[in-house]
Parts: sequence; C-alpha cells; structure tokens
Amino acid sequence: MKIAIALLFGALTLPALIPSVEAADQTQTFATATQAVRITPIYHAAARITAGRDTIVIDPAKPAKIDGITADLILITDIHGDHMDAADVTALSKAGTTVIAPAAVQATITQAKVLANGESTRWRDWKITAVPMYNISHNQPNGQPYHDKGRGNGYVLNFGGKNFYFAGDTEGTPEMRALKNIDVAFIPMNLPYTMTPVEAADAVKAFHPKVAIPYHYKGQDIAQFQKALAGTGIEVRLLDWYPQ
Ligand code: ZN
Repeated sequence: MKIAIALLFGALTLPALIPSVEAADQTQTFATATQAVRITPIYHAAARITAGRDTIVIDPAKPAKIDGITADLILITDIHGDHMDAADVTALSKAGTTVIAPAAVQATITQAKVLANGESTRWRDWKITAVPMYNISHNQPNGQPYHDKGRGNGYVLNFGGKNFYFAGDTEGTPEMRALKNIDVAFIPMNLPYTMTPVEAADAVKAFHPKVAIPYHYKGQDIAQFQKALAGTGIEVRLLDWYPQ
C-alpha cells in the first residue's frame, strides 16, 4: 500500500516538479569540434564557462555566488561594480590563474593582462577577441556615455570551432552588427545603461547568431526580446540571471 501511495503521489507530482528541476540547473551545453562547452549563469553579467579542465569566469561581481569555484581564467569587461570586484577575483584565483581585462580595469586589478578593443589573444585552446562595447544614444544626463568607446571589452571566445559572444554593457554598435559566425550571443538589455529589449533584438538580427541569450537585464521584460526575434530563425533562450 505504501508503494502504491508513493507511486500515485509520484505520478501526480512529477509533472509539476519538472519546471523547477530545469530552473535549478540552467547550464547550457554546446557541442564543439572538441570538448563540449558548458555555460552557467551566476548573476546579472557573471557566468561560469567550462570545457574539459578549463574553468572560465566572466564578470564576477557581488552578489554572484562564487563559493567553491576556482577559475583558470577570469575575463572582465569593464570597471563598473556590477562587472569588476577585486575581492571576487582574489577569491576565484589560484596559482596560475590568468586575468584578461581592458586597461581601465587593470588600474584596479593589477595582475590583469590587458587586451584592447579589436585585439585577440590565445589562452590554452581558446582564442579570445575583444570587441568594443559602448553607448551610442543612451547617455548620462550630462551627455557623457555610461560606457565610453574604447574603455570596455565585450569578448568573443572561440573554442572547438564555435564562437561564444559576451557583449558586455553596450548598445547595438556597428562592431556588434558586423560580427560573423557567432554561435551563441549573450546580450545586455537595461536602460539607461545599455539598450531596450527591442533595440537589442534589432542589433541581434543584424549579426544573426544561432542562439541569443539575454543577460544583464534587471527589471526588463525579456519576453519582448524573444517576441521581436520570432520567425528570424534565431533561437532565443530565456534564463534566470537573478536567482533569489
Ligand atoms: Zn553593467
């Protein structure tokens, strides 16, 4: 009788449980010509990227939960507190950890190896290219951009023949629109700092990644982004970057 009750209970509750199980593990796995690349949202713009023995963390910053993670490579896009946190970089680092960042970040994270807009570097089996990230029309009340052209880096990570793009805090710049062969694109959308979901979708249409994933979207309706890309052939994946 106990078993029958358990089975009945299980049968009744299982469908309801499936969504929460999926929500708990948001890791996205992408096959490449070599090792699979797994990307896990941590918080806001922070993500963990793993492939084989490599662990990369991009933009670790509070309140991202980084306990128990040790990074072989840390990538930082910009100087703002939601992307750069010196204590988190220290907590993630071990002997041999590499940090790659723009020069403005290196002023604080002094161990960082500088990569400027447009430059590429190799790290293990990865090719890392810095893409400009900046404001075009959404500026501060004093007219200055929130993100000056040249200061911050978006990154294209090439691994096993696939290209993963983390745009950083940017609008749909000509450099973004001109990208080619992007397999997976992580795109910001929040005003006043970056762009609206509809503006983000318009930029994504221009370079047509296979998969587009909103991130850095606090307070935005990311369903608008998905709706604006319906029928384009671009797969939109909506993930929760703000776990409680
Ligand atoms: Zn930001």
